[in-house]
Amino acid sequence: MSVVIGVLALQGDVREHANALEQCGATAIGVRRAEELDRVDGLVIPGGESTAMWKLMRAFDLLKPLRKRIEAGLPAYGSCAGMIMLADRIVDGAAGQETIGGIDMTVRRNAFGRQVDSYESTISFAGQSLEAVFIRAPWVESVGDGVEVLGQVELPGRPEEGSRDDGPRHRIVAVRQGRLMATAYHPELTGDPIVHRYFTELVRQSRNNEE
Ligand code: GLN
Repeated sequence: MSVVIGVLALQGDVREHANALEQCGATAIGVRRAEELDRVDGLVIPGGESTAMWKLMRAFDLLKPLRKRIEAGLPAYGSCAGMIMLADRIVDGAAGQETIGGIDMTVRRNAFGRQVDSYESTISFAGQSLEAVFIRAPWVESVGDGVEVLGQVELPGRPEEGSRDDGPRHRIVAVRQGRLMATAYHPELTGDPIVHRYFTELVRQSRNNEE
């Protein structure tokens, strides 16, 4: 069964997500207007810049319709800035920064920025291994009981000698709560469709359940 998956096309790497979704057998369309949300079985919110995305969502009157559709059960996957947009709570956001919300988690914006601006690492996603690219990425500080952790990463570098940074060296970077999922990294940039396949399958299953 073919499913239609929208890619929010306000900002960010829309085409790469669309290509990855098509590779998984979905029909991908760009979404810029609220009416277009009615045509999709699922939605990808790409990486980019979450403050810009939030302002554009307001300007295009998309924030409320998106919240409504997601509350009503639209499957959604957010990557990097998209992860921030799906978080119920953000740390280090811009003044007044709002999210769509939906996943019961606290996300720290630009969290990896303190160690490195971007890097690649082989990590595990739902038990499968993949190359992950992190670009000024957030990480998940904490999750509520209903959130499944799909992947964690070991922090790059070592704590400095004598520093008090002797806390856990792992951070959550991929999660799922019901029909919503998010990764701190950009699977659309590495040509390995593991995450998109997982999401496409989630969209297929939720459409089957509704029929
Ligand atoms: N740092 C960006 C933000 O706050 C996210 C970066 C990305 O999506 N690659 O939205």
